[in-house]
Amino acid sequence: MALDQQLLEILACPDTHHAPLEHDAGAQTLTCTECGRIFEIRDDIPILLLDEAREPGSPAASGPAGPAGSPDAAGSSDDSVEGSN
Ligand SMILES: [Zn+2]
Repeated sequence: MALDQQLLEILACPDTHHAPLEHDAGAQTLTCTECGRIFEIRDDIPILLLDEAREPGSPAASGPAGPAGSPDAAGSSDDSVEGSN
């Protein structure tokens, strides 16, 4: 069941800018076009609450964004320490 297009048009971000929301039918979310907050749709009811919204930079929603450095870059060229007894 999809959200009504007419309903979507009257929906707006609960923040002060009241920007229009973008419907993601696959993820069942509404994304604010202004602040990027993501609002869930539960049982066809959009949860338009700032407290319930996911912030744009939330680590739970996005993929891996760790550093791409190689862990063995440091200390590999230091072979002067040799214990010769
Ligand atoms: Zn917003």
